[in-house]
Amino acid sequence: MPTAKKKTVKKSSKAKKSKAVRKVQPKHKVKPTLAVWKFASCDGCQLSLLSCEDELLDVVGGIELAYFLEATSAMIDGPYDVSLVEGSITTEFDAKRILKIREQSKILITIGACATAGGIQGLKNFANVNDYIKAVYARPEYISTLKTSMPIKDYVDVDFELRGCPIDKGQLLEVINATLNGRVPAIPHYSQCVECKKNGTVCVMVAKGTPCLGPVTQAGCGNLCPSTDRGCYGCFGPSELPNGFSLAKQFEKLGMNKKEIRDFFRSYNASAGGFREISEAYDLKK
Ligand code: SF4
Ligand code: SF4
Ligand code: SF4
Repeated sequence: MPTAKKKTVKKSSKAKKSKAVRKVQPKHKVKPTLAVWKFASCDGCQLSLLSCEDELLDVVGGIELAYFLEATSAMIDGPYDVSLVEGSITTEFDAKRILKIREQSKILITIGACATAGGIQGLKNFANVNDYIKAVYARPEYISTLKTSMPIKDYVDVDFELRGCPIDKGQLLEVINATLNGRVPAIPHYSQCVECKKNGTVCVMVAKGTPCLGPVTQAGCGNLCPSTDRGCYGCFGPSELPNGFSLAKQFEKLGMNKKEIRDFFRSYNASAGGFREISEAYDLKK
């Protein structure tokens, strides 16, 4: 179990006298330590943890927050029992930093589309990054970046990936709870369509011809877009065994052109396997 940095406090005579009293008090179990790390990201997934409000108090009661700059400036040195990692790898510095975090973490969980699939910044994986830098920055020579934005799993072993942009806070609590109790998190890997059927949501693609990525997108958001009469645009990333090419053919029948289909698959999870191949196949530049 990790040990916190502790201040050395000189024992006063009063403290020495109370030693016997303290001895008979029950020893408290050392809480597991949780560290939350940020890489290239918008912080939205870390905010999902902060927005757990009441539940966060229970979580904090069960763990020691060892490193979480969004919540506290207090830091405890590693190793850590559980690390949550938000964001993608976009710089040489971060490519080295994640190796150290992996070394210090018994369990490493990635949270959100940035960490699990490279995120929206992964659009540079399909372009010349120098063109982007010149278009955005007045002094491009000061920018140091990799050509790609890649998920954490491309650099280190990951114990569990929690999808979403942002992640669902209920799913996050389930992952933390399951991890602390040594069980596999009960996170569904089936598609959004299953949630539509379970909730009795009318299919927007069948009823209205609205393009929807739900058949290839992992459930977990609470069926948000279809239940509000919109097509899913895939922010939870690919479901288990997605058949994107078949869905793309359906989009063609609905009147979408190649560029529209490419761009539909190329957003928050553009570099994720199951989406990437479709957008590349429909890329007009090829
Ligand atoms: S996955 Fe989305 S919400 Fe989470 S950090 Fe990345 S951009 Fe922000
Ligand atoms: S609305 Fe979308 S997610 Fe729901 S059943 Fe239809 S295709 Fe599937
Ligand atoms: S329905 Fe699709 S796009 Fe909408 S929140 Fe859920 S996963 Fe994201």
